[in-house]
Formats: sequence, C-alpha cells, structure tokens
Amino acid sequence: MKQTGINSGQFLVLVVDDLPSNLQILRGILEPTGYELTFACGGEQALDRVKIARPDLIVLDLMMPDVDGFTVCKTLQDDPEFANIPIVFLTASHEEANIERAFACGAVDYVTKPFRRSELLARIRTHLLLKYTIDELRKTKLELLSALRKTEQLARVDPLTGALNRRSWNGRARKIWQRARQGGLPFAVLMLDCDRFKRINDNYGHDAGDRLLCAVVQTIEDGLRPGDALGRYGGEEFVILLPELTALEAKPVAERLREQIAALTLNSPRGTMRATVSIGIADYQDEDPDLDALLNRADNAMYRAKHAGRNCVRLAAQAEL
Ligand code: GH3
Ligand code: MG
Ligand code: MG
Repeated sequence: MKQTGINSGQFLVLVVDDLPSNLQILRGILEPTGYELTFACGGEQALDRVKIARPDLIVLDLMMPDVDGFTVCKTLQDDPEFANIPIVFLTASHEEANIERAFACGAVDYVTKPFRRSELLARIRTHLLLKYTIDELRKTKLELLSALRKTEQLARVDPLTGALNRRSWNGRARKIWQRARQGGLPFAVLMLDCDRFKRINDNYGHDAGDRLLCAVVQTIEDGLRPGDALGRYGGEEFVILLPELTALEAKPVAERLREQIAALTLNSPRGTMRATVSIGIADYQDEDPDLDALLNRADNAMYRAKHAGRNCVRLAAQAEL
C-alpha cells in the first residue's frame, strides 16, 4: 500500500458472490492491488471460508440463494472470533431498507452496482487500513497492560525471593490491622529470622546463601494458606501475616514452619546446606496504638527465641502488651 509502509500482500480479502462471473470480475479488479484473494460462491461457503482462511476483509454480495448476505454478516458479527472482520456489501440493491439493515447487521460499508472501480478499491483500502490500525492498537494495549502488570509485580515483590517487599507487606498488614480495630477478626504476625546466616555465607558463599534463602521462602509459601502473606522484612528476616488467628493459634503454624525449614537440605559445591529459624509471635491487641506496636512485640519475642538458643518459637509475653 502506497505511503503507509504496509505491504498489500499481507491482507487477505474474501470475495463472496453466488455468480461465478461476478467473482471473476472482482478478481480482475482486486488482483492488481496485490491483496491475497480467496473466494466463496454463496453464503454457506462464505461462513466456512471465514473459519479456515480468517480474512482481513470480506466483500459480500447481498442476494444469494442459500444464505443471504445479511445472515452471513450477522452470524460473523455475533461471533467474537470474527466480529472484527470488516464487511463491505457489494450489491445491486439500492433500497434504503437494505442499506439500513446491512449497517444494522454490522457492515462497515455498502457499495451499489454499477460501482466505480476506483471507489470500491478506495473503500476496501480504507477499511483494511482501519482494521490494521485497530489490530495494532489492540496489540499495543495488550503489551502495555502486560508491562504494567509486570511493573506492578516488581514494585510489590522482593526480586530475590519473590516474597512481598516490606512496603507492600506493610500495606497489606495495615489493612488487616484496621479491620481488626473496627471490631473485625484477630490476626497474628510471625517475625522470623534465619539463624547464623552470616556463617552460611562464610561457609558456602553468598550465591549459595541466596539459594538457601529462596528455598526457605519456598518452604514457607508452601505451608501458608491463600490469605496469609509473607514479606521480606530485612536481609534474612521475614514477616508472616496470619489473618483470623490468635497468637496461641499461630503457635502450631510457626512450629510447623520451623520444623519444615530445619528439615530442608540444599546442595552446594561446598557441601550440604541447612537453615534454621527463630520465630517470634504476636497478635492484635486493642490497646496497641498502631501496627508497629504489634511488630515490636513480635520482634522482641523473636529475640527471645534467639537468646533461648535459636531454632525455636516464642510468643510475645503478656508483660509486653
Ligand atoms: P542471628 O542468628 O543472630 O540472626 O545471626 P545472623 O548471622 O543471621 O545475623 P546477622 O544479622 O549478624 O547477619 C545476617 C546475615 O545475613 C549477614 C548477611 O550477609 C546475610 N544476608 C542478609 N541478606 C542476605 C541475602 O540476600 N543473601 C545472602 N546470601 N545473605 C544475606
Ligand atoms: Mg539472622
Ligand atoms: Mg537478621
């Protein structure tokens, strides 16, 4: 196609007419344009051709003995798979009622016979370009949406482990905290820190340490319910939001996670790596001024677990409330 940089040969035009002589005339007119052409000798054949050939545009006769043009047009318009194929009626009928009906059926144009060759070609070209532009816009929109989704995902998660990042986890936790404050359900938070992780890096290398951290995260994720949320709070420190659980109810969850992590083994060039974690648990209390108060209690409980020898779970003490 001149001036567009688009090659005519990339467009497939389906021509439909019950009279073979008309198909021949249209072939003579359309062939020099360079469009790919395909033909159907009647309405029924047209519907079959569309499904197989998936044309970019249809030049459609109106009066046909088997299935008329209106029916073909309406059938395609009603099918989301084919509704975006532009249909140009080419007919001897000048009746206004037919013109109206054709557009109502979803046609994009209506050319009457006898037609001017250049006019028909110009209309076909316009509708092909329009469809091409719409298709390109649609593709661009999908690409942009997918890029946006990826960007949103990147902004939400920690790139190494795939756990929520601190900001995103805090946002989620604050919502749950607000809900609990308004008289909703309880919730618990586990503060989890990997034990002696500096040694892991020293002994096996930082890359192997990274892989172990990812394996710990995977183990936790596998053990959580759909509504729970795992966040990376610092280097080898994680927080887990457990909606609808009190601290006491969260204790067995924490114990199970601790055991599963301790049972984890991961090979590295310098030997088999293992991880253990210390976990502190706190839950929502009406007296708390904000979420940080709860997190501080969980943090203190986690430090008590460290002081108790690591690889264990501690509940926030009543005295801390
Ligand atoms: P503790 O049991 O007292 O928590 O001992 P620790 O060695 O885990 O604690 P410390 O805070 O002294 O050290 C944390 C270590 O975790 C040091 C740091 O290099 C490592 N670490 C933090 N983030 C990452 C990470 O993304 N990848 C790797 N490989 N190591 C990390
Ligand atoms: Mg640590
Ligand atoms: Mg730490």
